[in-house]
Amino acid sequence: MFDCGTLHIASTEPLGLKKEEVATADMSVPCFLVTHPKGTLLWDTGAVPDTGWNPVGHPILQHVALPDFQECDVTLIKSLRAQLAEVGYSPSDITYLALSHYHFDHTANANEFADSIWLVRQVERDAMFAEKSPGLTQPSTYSALRNSKTLILKANEHDVFGDGTVVIKLAPGHTPGHQVLYLKLAKTGGVLLSGDLYHYPEERVLDRVPTFEFSAEQTRASRVAIDAFLKKTSAQLWIQHDLNSNAKLKKSPSFYD
Ligand SMILES: [Zn+2]
Repeated sequence: MFDCGTLHIASTEPLGLKKEEVATADMSVPCFLVTHPKGTLLWDTGAVPDTGWNPVGHPILQHVALPDFQECDVTLIKSLRAQLAEVGYSPSDITYLALSHYHFDHTANANEFADSIWLVRQVERDAMFAEKSPGLTQPSTYSALRNSKTLILKANEHDVFGDGTVVIKLAPGHTPGHQVLYLKLAKTGGVLLSGDLYHYPEERVLDRVPTFEFSAEQTRASRVAIDAFLKKTSAQLWIQHDLNSNAKLKKSPSFYD
């Protein structure tokens, strides 16, 4: 698990929550490297491209302005490339790239992994390269994926390495082809990486859905399906943007196995 920054959220209202309803409005932005005997998978790529800022050894604040005029401040410490290098990987070592979805805070370094095999849903890819980009996207950060070797995922579940330990599951609603990642780890047990199925734990407890979903109805259905899956597998749910929970998780170079 890499620390790819902290988003400073000016208002939680678009997430369907009042300020006083959330413990912490700021959001963590993790990226995940999954290593397997048959290859590697990178899950999500951060909020600010490594090429867009210079690490100085202590946290710095970056301002992100999107083509749709939405803006956000992000605190960054280390580049994704440096964090990968620290554990002995470079972008050319990444077999598969998968994004939970197309929002800017998941795609920032996608272009760096254009030589990997991109695992994506057709509806998501179509939206990403449509003439009019969806809101909250930064298309310049993923433009190189257009020519990537691409595996279009058709089934609801895609077993990445064929042994059931790394499975991408369709969970649409937040975006048309939003997906989550199930990891069956030998010692840790089952872990489900949420993408943006939820942003805050309070969203889950209070049963709120963001106001800017591609389809709120689909999000609700995806949540029901994933909840049933979590129950069946006893997997832990890691809400990727949950700052307080993620602060307690091990970060690279430590890892879960
Ligand atoms: Zn997000």
